[in-house]
Formats: sequence, structure tokens, C-alpha cells
Amino acid sequence: MKIVALTAFPVSFPVPEDKAVTLGIGRAVKRDAVLIKVETESGLVGWGESHAGRAPGAVAQLANTTLRTLVVGMDASDVVGVWDRIYKMQLASHGMGAGCAIAMSGVDMALWDIRAKAVGWPLYKLLGGRSKGIRAYAGGISLGYQPPDELAEEAAGPVAQGYRALKLRLGDTPANDIARVVAVRKALGDDIDILTDANAAYSLDDARRVMPVLDDAQVGWLEEPFPPHDHRRYAETKGYGRTPLAAGENHYTRFEFHRLIEDGHITIVQPDLSKTGGITESLRIAALASTWKLSINPHTSSTGLNVAASIHLLCSIDNPGYFEADISQHNPFRDELCDWQASVDSDGFVYPPETPGLGVSFDEKDLANFPLIDGPGYI
Ligand SMILES: [Mg+2]
Repeated sequence: MKIVALTAFPVSFPVPEDKAVTLGIGRAVKRDAVLIKVETESGLVGWGESHAGRAPGAVAQLANTTLRTLVVGMDASDVVGVWDRIYKMQLASHGMGAGCAIAMSGVDMALWDIRAKAVGWPLYKLLGGRSKGIRAYAGGISLGYQPPDELAEEAAGPVAQGYRALKLRLGDTPANDIARVVAVRKALGDDIDILTDANAAYSLDDARRVMPVLDDAQVGWLEEPFPPHDHRRYAETKGYGRTPLAAGENHYTRFEFHRLIEDGHITIVQPDLSKTGGITESLRIAALASTWKLSINPHTSSTGLNVAASIHLLCSIDNPGYFEADISQHNPFRDELCDWQASVDSDGFVYPPETPGLGVSFDEKDLANFPLIDGPGYI
């Protein structure tokens, strides 16, 4: 199980203009991911996914240089030891902060893939869980800024597929956001859980104006009205209404989730396994949230690796919340690269893959079909 090689592959694809969605962080023009391959002396190979961090080349470079040097020679089954070594030698002092947490997430995920392959089990089983249906909501880069009637029409699509929950993009003007939420609630009726995400684009005043309408529309959560460090604005906004606040996709490691949970303003916890420190760290965050009786609702992107890892984790913790399904119109990472993708059943549930490891594979040669595109992903 000795690690003999670690290689990171930054990959991208452009989003065609007619399929581009606009949300609170801009219009999506491309999508990226960083895939991490870890090889062992025995020949077992694991794959993990690191989020692109809006600079996929930089994330891959960190993994291919410093992290590779720190990790090669260690035991692949020693996930806690590898995490701790990277933490001490790169993250804790003079490191790249979020960049390091993101890069190490893919390494950790690849090690869990190896561990589960080594025992011949699907990952959920190794994590102590069982295969069970996880409630899914329709999310990803979709349901963006468009006229309310067109949005209501788009929202009917996933509901017809089986989804019982979906997520609308807010962070436009309060008037536009309100019109969209009201139109979709009217079109879908009361049985569908409507979730919302402002992608950190709100001012305090925007939140004050929108919250009562979200309450009236029985919205399930308001996600990231503000950036993660705006603790005071989260505290203020909690007093504006009953709709729960959600965040976590831009929080890194248990040390940042510690404050999120202790503050008590954000009650929907959304770690991204490809950002926050991998599966090892997400298990710790889930345990932390469990002590407060809060559920884990992972943010997911972009390939089947992180999607599968998220479902395995949700099947293995005592506080699973929603799984975020990517219903983006255009995602060849999902449709062309990986041999497995999450599919929702007619009751709105998804299930983990059953093959050993993460349960997702692809032909390494196909990565050449997705050459790195430098520059911003949203404009
Ligand atoms: Mg979000």
C-alpha cells in the first residue's frame, strides 16, 4: 500500500453560449476540475477530485509538487496520517490556505478509493454505512436568471423526472428574486421543496427585503447570502425571518466549520468533499454537526468522483441531509467522462454505486479531451 506516485490532471470544458446559465457569481463560461491519481506499490490505483478553486492549474501544481513530495512513500491506508502530514507541513503555517485544503481533498479522496478497492467494498460499506436512498435536490449550474414564467417551465422538468426538491438561483435584484420564487412556488404547488442560493451576492438590505417572501413561500433554505467570513451579516439576517440559512461550500476544514456551527446562525451545513479536506475531514465535520443535530448537505461538483463520494458519505453518517444533483444542461464530465452518474428515482432518491472503491471509473486517455482552460469560469 506504499504510495509510489501522485499525479494531478487539471481539466476544463467550455460552456456553449446558448447553454450558459447566469447566477450570483456571474455567467458560467467554462467548468473545470482537478483529478488526482494516486498509485501504490501493489498496483492499486485510486482517483479523487479536487475542486478547481477558480485556478485549476494552480491547484494541480500544488498537488504535483509539494503534496507529491510530502505523500510519496507513505502508506495509502493511513488517511489520517497523510492528512496530518499535509496539515503540519503545508496548511498550518505559511501554506496556501484554501488552495491547500482543496488540493489535499482530492488526494484524500483517492486514498479512500484505494482503501475500499483493497478490501473489495463500495466506499459506503468501508465508512460504516449501508446502501440507502438519499433525498436529492435538482441543483448544479441550472435554474438561473431568466423570466419567471420560463424558470417555472424549467423547474417542471426535474419534478417530472422525480425530484421533490430543487434550488433556484437568487442574488439578482430583490424584485427579480422575489418574482422568480413566487412564480415557481405557484407553478409547482406546495409539495415541492424550493431551496434558494444567492451565491454571496446579497447586501444586508437585499436579505432583509427577500427573507419575508421566502418565509411565505415556505422556502427550505437561503444559501450563502454573503461570503463565509461575514459572520455579523449572517447573525443579522437570521433575525429577518424563519427561513434557515445554509453555507459551507466555501468553508474549509473542521476548524472553519467549528465557528459556523457554534455561532448558530447557519443551520444547514454544506461541506464540499472536494474542497474542505476530503472524506476524512468531511467525516469529522459531520460528527461535529451531529452533536448539534444539524444535517450534512454536501455541495457537489463537477465530476462523478465527487458526486459518488458525497453519496457514499451521506449513506454512512447519522445526519444525512440532501444530495445536490447537478442538472446542468451541459456537463460532459458527467455525461461523457465517467462511467457512472447519479440518477434520481421516481420518488426523488439517489443511491450509491456498488462497485469497489468510489465506484466511478474512466479511461485516463479521455482526460486529453478536456484540456485546461486558464482564466475565470464566470464573467
Ligand atoms: Mg451554492
